[in-house]
Amino acid sequence: MNRSSNLSGSKPLKISIASGKGGTGKTLVATSLAVSLADKKAVIADCDVEEPNVHLFFPRKQLLEKKECEVPVPIIDEEICTHCGLCSDNCAFHALAVLFQKVLVFQELCHGCGACAFVCPEKAISEGRRSVGEVFRAESGCLKIVWGELKPGEARTTPLIHSVKEEAKGDLVIVDCPPGTSCSMVESVRGTDFCLLVTESTPFGLYDLDLALRALEMMKTPRGVLINKSGIGDRKIYEYLEKHKVPLLMEIPFSRKIAELYSRGIIFVEHMPEWKERLAALAKKIEEQIA
Ligand code: SF4
Ligand code: SF4
Repeated sequence: MNRSSNLSGSKPLKISIASGKGGTGKTLVATSLAVSLADKKAVIADCDVEEPNVHLFFPRKQLLEKKECEVPVPIIDEEICTHCGLCSDNCAFHALAVLFQKVLVFQELCHGCGACAFVCPEKAISEGRRSVGEVFRAESGCLKIVWGELKPGEARTTPLIHSVKEEAKGDLVIVDCPPGTSCSMVESVRGTDFCLLVTESTPFGLYDLDLALRALEMMKTPRGVLINKSGIGDRKIYEYLEKHKVPLLMEIPFSRKIAELYSRGIIFVEHMPEWKERLAALAKKIEEQIA
């Protein structure tokens, strides 16, 4: 059955851009792809909430909205608590410690599951809220940009990533994932139609690509690979892709000019417009992969 997405039809398309490790050019690809598809009213969602930098590439953006991302947290009523310890015993995340006269809540460890309130025989636990970070929405020309900023010291990224994705509504959504294969990457990829893995043809690149592909396999997310800075390194990654039947959708050769533009915070396709067509063609290839 042919899946018609917004590039050629009417269904929304969500593409995640990920990489097994940082520094492979994931954001370079995500921003360039979004700009190349700006006429499709693309939305770019920066889910690297610990170090969001996509918005820095759009200096003329206009901020539309900023809001807190809140998660549930237990509030203990010490007046009726008997300090029986049941809540602590049932907290899988070790976020509670029951002392003789006080219950300590370690908010950064709490996952807001509500198990403690459920088991409390005295009904001494109610639900409070706390902020884990902020979600921003902006626009730059036809392009919408959404990003999250995690609060300093905050460990839980997934609720904020979820909020960023919730805000990134549109016919064509490009999700810039955090590097690695942790739950942050999994949460970012979850629900997207296709994941483009950006890698380099080096032994480190291959090692991390293998991990990322395994994660995607478990998630059953259609995937393909873009080799950035091709022409350096060895051929092992090409052999790997062939052996594992992973489609190689594009290569961006190593280029001093691209690297210089990126280091100056410039989206390279703006200065090298011939690449816009190539990236638009990449989106078509992605669409064909999920057809
Ligand atoms: S389960 Fe309820 S009563 Fe028991 S220690 Fe926890 S809050 Fe207090
Ligand atoms: S809400 Fe869940 S994670 Fe948080 S303290 Fe209660 S049991 Fe632990």
